[in-house]
Amino acid sequence: MSMSRKEFIHKTGKSVLAAGALSAAGPAAAVGDKKPKKTPGGFKVEIKTKKLDLRHAWTIARDTSTYKEYAFVRLEKDGIYGLGEAAHNVRYGESLESTVATIEKARPILEKADPWHFVDLNAAIQGICEGQTAAKAGIDIALMDWLTKSLGIPLYQFWGLDAKKAPQTTFSIGIDTMEVVKQKVEEAAPYPLLKIKMGKDNDEEILAAVRSVTDKTLRVDANEGWKEKELALRKVEWLAKNGVDLVEQPMPADMLEETAWVKERASIPILADESVKTSKDIPKLAEAFDGINIKVDKAGGLQESLRMIWMARSLGMKIMLGCMVSSSLSITAAAHLSPLTDFPDLDGNLLLADDPFDGVKVKDGWLILPDRPGLGVQGEW
Ligand code: MG
Repeated sequence: MSMSRKEFIHKTGKSVLAAGALSAAGPAAAVGDKKPKKTPGGFKVEIKTKKLDLRHAWTIARDTSTYKEYAFVRLEKDGIYGLGEAAHNVRYGESLESTVATIEKARPILEKADPWHFVDLNAAIQGICEGQTAAKAGIDIALMDWLTKSLGIPLYQFWGLDAKKAPQTTFSIGIDTMEVVKQKVEEAAPYPLLKIKMGKDNDEEILAAVRSVTDKTLRVDANEGWKEKELALRKVEWLAKNGVDLVEQPMPADMLEETAWVKERASIPILADESVKTSKDIPKLAEAFDGINIKVDKAGGLQESLRMIWMARSLGMKIMLGCMVSSSLSITAAAHLSPLTDFPDLDGNLLLADDPFDGVKVKDGWLILPDRPGLGVQGEW
């Protein structure tokens, strides 16, 4: 009786396949005559935009929104397709228009390149249009989805990771009226760890509202909201006394010296978010922060995020794995990296009223990765 490639992989050990895929001999070495098709030419590229309605209007220190509209990319070759989502961020000079334009600019590269040279392909994509990391992330997510679907294994397995090692994720509570903040905290009952957005002028009121309904461990994201070091330190220490175990981006991204002063005196870890985008930003942050918040969208993709993880680790830094408010497509892509991180914060999909995709699940705060090939995401693209 002949064995399907999937059964063969299960019987012969998945890590062998993952290792084989990276060897000089290529994936064929591990899968024998069942090797993935390898035809000349690149991808058929499709781009779409989708509107994603939010459950609650979403407010952070910068702005408020009731829906998101993002670009999505579909890469197809040899009867297999990979999907990616480009969750752009106005903070970094991105818009829906600039994101679509960047993917269009990448189109001729994607149509020509050999997807099995995915490192070179990613490098070529990173080289177009300054910044525009959401577009590049969308492309890299689709590329890695296609690659690991072609190999018949989940992405985390391709990286040699144990999906069960992912720490519990936080659930974020946006700034709102105190009544709605309390309601959001109550809706977050299944999540043991909450991340609270602060940094406007009502931090005390927010903490009191949250603490009136829960005694859970909290993490606070100030989104650059505190502009003086003394104020920032006072806030951090006050939070530490009230069951907060880390503070993210207490001060503006360019105030590194002041942040280092706060970090030296703070009794809980201080993490960078707006101060860090890609691996080249990390070395100069090691003095000012205890850790960094990596987001696939601002890193420019999964391959760069993985590089950031190793660079931060080499500098002794902790790692939060954050996200944009986005569908399960982006969130699941990021979740495949979560076993390598300390503080996953992958809840962006849970804030949508109607998620078009189905992928990673959360149970009592634990991330449950799908074991289907690729990202394991299903849904109408
Ligand atoms: Mg943040």
